[in-house]
Formats: sequence, structure tokens, C-alpha cells
Amino acid sequence: MRRIQHFIDGQHQAGTSGRSSDVYDPATGQIQAQVDLASVAEVHEAVSAAHKASQEWSESSLTQRTQIMFRFRELLSDRTDELARVISSEHGKVVSDAAGEVARGLENVEFACGIAHHLKGEINEQVSAGIEVYSLRQPLGVVAGITPFNFPAMVPAWMFATAIACGNAFICKPSERDPSASMLIAEWFIEAGLPPGVFSVVNGDKEAVDALIDHEDVAAISFVGSTPIASYVYERATSAGKRVQALGGAKNHMLVLPDADIEMAADAAVSAAYGSAGERCMAVSALVAVGSAADELVEAISQRIPDVKVGVGTEPGAEMGPLITAEHRDRVAGYVERAQQAGAVAVVDGGNADLPTDGFFYGPTLLDEVTADMECYQDEIFGPVLSVLRVETFQEAMDLINANPFGNGTAIFTRDGGAARQFQHEVQVGMVGINVPIPVPVAYHSFGGWKASLFGDTHMYGPEGVRFYTRAKAITARWPDPASSQIDLGFPQNS
Ligand code: NAD
Repeated sequence: MRRIQHFIDGQHQAGTSGRSSDVYDPATGQIQAQVDLASVAEVHEAVSAAHKASQEWSESSLTQRTQIMFRFRELLSDRTDELARVISSEHGKVVSDAAGEVARGLENVEFACGIAHHLKGEINEQVSAGIEVYSLRQPLGVVAGITPFNFPAMVPAWMFATAIACGNAFICKPSERDPSASMLIAEWFIEAGLPPGVFSVVNGDKEAVDALIDHEDVAAISFVGSTPIASYVYERATSAGKRVQALGGAKNHMLVLPDADIEMAADAAVSAAYGSAGERCMAVSALVAVGSAADELVEAISQRIPDVKVGVGTEPGAEMGPLITAEHRDRVAGYVERAQQAGAVAVVDGGNADLPTDGFFYGPTLLDEVTADMECYQDEIFGPVLSVLRVETFQEAMDLINANPFGNGTAIFTRDGGAARQFQHEVQVGMVGINVPIPVPVAYHSFGGWKASLFGDTHMYGPEGVRFYTRAKAITARWPDPASSQIDLGFPQNS
């Protein structure tokens, strides 16, 4: 059985804890590898190597960092297909979707290639006679990233590209369900010339996460995952005095007004609800249809569902793969069953789809007549299930969306510029699409939700990522003639 180890101090290192976890191929249901789960002692070893490496790396020139990042960018770009196939085999998403994930992660690396520009400080000359004030941003030291299963390459890239370019050493604790992407990235960084210890991978579960959070040499924690764990990580890490950004779960609404192009809205809803089998934090899971839009949309979406090609991720033409585990598939099926018991209408039930029985497949599902009090609306299902909520007015739709505890992404489909403007202004959500169903910001903006979708003060990557992974220093300097020197016990004032 293939064994996935750790990557510490520039090398693969076998785990010594004696604990491991199964890594499945979700398309076949077979166990394909065992991943080592780190003990506290192994995490300490990784942090110690990273700490040592960070001391030299923080002194590296911006030219050196930029050149390494460019080389890494080339490797990642050239090997997109290789990485996409690894992702597909452990996660289940189709290879084209996995390649899309890598391409979006690559954007973060490209942003980091411009680090010299992003780290420019500010200066005021002559704030007082002969005095300058300028600000610098310096790295934090060792920073850790704890990542979810659903984007095993892109979410780590949201973190490591900026963290490393800013001069930090980065330790990744990927999801134990699909850890191989991070291991490849670690190898490719060494090939690109990154010194050993600047990028490490510690595989593990709660024990490794807690050990990273508790270690005094880890200065900051970036987390992406479900809301209960995001909240836990935020509480524990802030109590330990760390800087934390913890991104949680989501319930993303797509609001469709009656004036929208219904065919376009239906295409967008199908793509955003069923892409990656709904296992995206920005997936649309609640379709809020205003007035007459509802009947037309339900009809248009149900017509499209039979054409969605569900299959093994490596099959040419497959558009949607299996779910991550058998337990998760059964959990999704349970939600669909209980939704019907609660009064929702399963226009299409993915549980009845004719799909391979070996893997963890569940077909695209469309639930109509869903109401806000139903469990299928209140919980993040994280599967290919789209719930339709019918409302009469735009205001009713806004109230529904703003009452939801999550605030990750949302979208409006309309031809009415005034309604779209009102939506973008009033909606209590961090990322908003206007006729764009999955509004993941480009790498030079920042990614982050509101409310229960993010704990912390900074969003991830882009300008906010640079701020998160550096601390500011303000310098006040003067070069006076020593002959003018005198004692003055008053509080310094500017004149
Ligand atoms: P998860 O919360 O189960 O796991 C995330 C990470 O936390 C993993 O590395 C896991 O090993 C670790 N972890 C799990 N249980 C832990 C515990 N008790 N203590 C400490 N660490 C623990 O999430 P997942 O199932 O891997 O990913 C899916 C979730 O991630 C969904 O809720 C999805 O919405 C969310 N997500 C959010 C975003 C975002 O940007 N907001 C992006 C991607 C995924």
C-alpha cells in the first residue's frame, strides 16, 4: 500500500506516531494509500526546522524570492495536468475541474511574483524639520495553514504563495483525505530553489492541528474548513496569542428576478450547484426565485440535469465526479430524504440516478418548495443539491439572504441595474456576483466571507494576505547636526 509521509526540512519523512488514515479513490471506493498522522513531537520537529529556515529566508532578497516564485510558477504551470490527475484521484472531481483549481491557485503564485511591489512601504519626508517617517512590512516567522479537502491545491496556494514571498516559512497541514497535492507542491518548491524548511507538509488530524496552534514559534494560523472547526481554531489560536484568519462554511444564495434571462440563469445555476458535485465553498445551494421566475427556472434546470455527465474524474467528457467519502454521500442522501418528509418536492432526486455503485456517486438533485425553516436550507449540505425557495418580492429575497447565518458568496441574476446596485450595497455577504454565479475574486483582490463564513479580521490572499503575513514597523528618523543637540524633557511635538 502506498504510504504518504510528511515533508519536513526539504525531505520526505516517514511518520513515527504509528497512526495513519485511509486515502480513498472516491470513484472506485477503494483505499489507494495510507497517510501518516503526525504526533505532537513530529509537529514540533517540523516547526523547529521551519523556524531555523525562516531566519535565513526572512533575510533573503526580494530578487531571490521573486526568482524562486517565478521558477515555481513555471513548474506548476507546466505540470498542471499531472497535479490535476492526482487531485482527481483522491478528491474525485473531474480532471478539467481540478485543472481549473490549479489555474486559480497559479494566479496566487503570479500575484506573489510581484512581491517587491506589494511590500513597498510608505514614506513622508519632512514631517517636522529634518524628520522623515516611513513604514516597513516584515515577515512574522513561521506560519501554518490548515486546509480542507475540497481544494487540495488552490486553498494551500491562497496561503503559501503570499506567506513565503513575504519572507515566512510555511507549514501546510492538508486534509488527511487528499494530501498528495501538497506533497507534490513541496517537492516542486525544492526544485524551484526554495531552501529546505521554508515549505513543509505535516500530515495529520486534530492532534497535528492543535500542536501547530499551541506551538509558541508558530506566529499565525490560516484555516479554511467547516464553520465549527473554523470557530474552534479561531478561539484556540487567538487565546494562544496568534494572528488568525479562519474561513468557514457557506450557504450561497442565487437570487433570480423575473426580468433575468432565464436560460442564462438556469445554465449558471446548474454549473454553480453541481460543479465539483457541490463540494465548493462558493457553490450555489439556495436558488431564490422571485415571482414568475420560479416556474420557468425549475423547468429549465430540470431539463438540463439529465445532460450533466456524472462519471469517473479521468473519463473524457465527465463533468461531475463522486463525493469525497461514502459517509458523506449517505449524509447528502439523508438530507434529501428528510427534505421530502418536511414538504420539499424532489423534482430530481440524485439518489435515483443510474450511477456506478462502486464509487461514492450521488446525482444532481433539485428540491423545490423549500422553506427557510427546513434543515436542507439551514445546513450546508456540501453536495449536488440545489434548493429552490420561492418568494414574491425582491425585498423578501433580500431579507431571507441577510437573515442567513452564513455570508460567503451570493449572486443576483437580473437585467435591472438599479436592483443589482441595491443588492450589492445591502447584501450582508463578503463576495457578490452580478450575473456571475461563483464570484471568487481574482488573486489581486482578497477572498473572504462575512458572518459565520469567516472568523478573524483579514480576508485571504491578495492585499489582505500581504497584511496578514507581515507586521508593520514605523520608523521616525532624523540626521541632525550634532552641534544643534540639546536636552528637552517635553513630549516630542512636530512643528
Ligand atoms: P473540515 O473542517 O472537516 O476540515 C478542515 C481541516 O481541519 C482539515 O485539515 C482537517 O484535518 C482539520 N480538522 C478537522 N477536524 C478537526 C478538529 N476537530 N480539530 C482540529 N482540526 C480539525 O472541512 P472539510 O470537510 O475538509 O472541508 C469542507 C468545508 O470547508 C466546508 O464546510 C466548506 O464550506 C469549507 N470551505 C470553506 C471555504 C471558504 O473559503 N470559506 C473554502 C473551502 C472549503
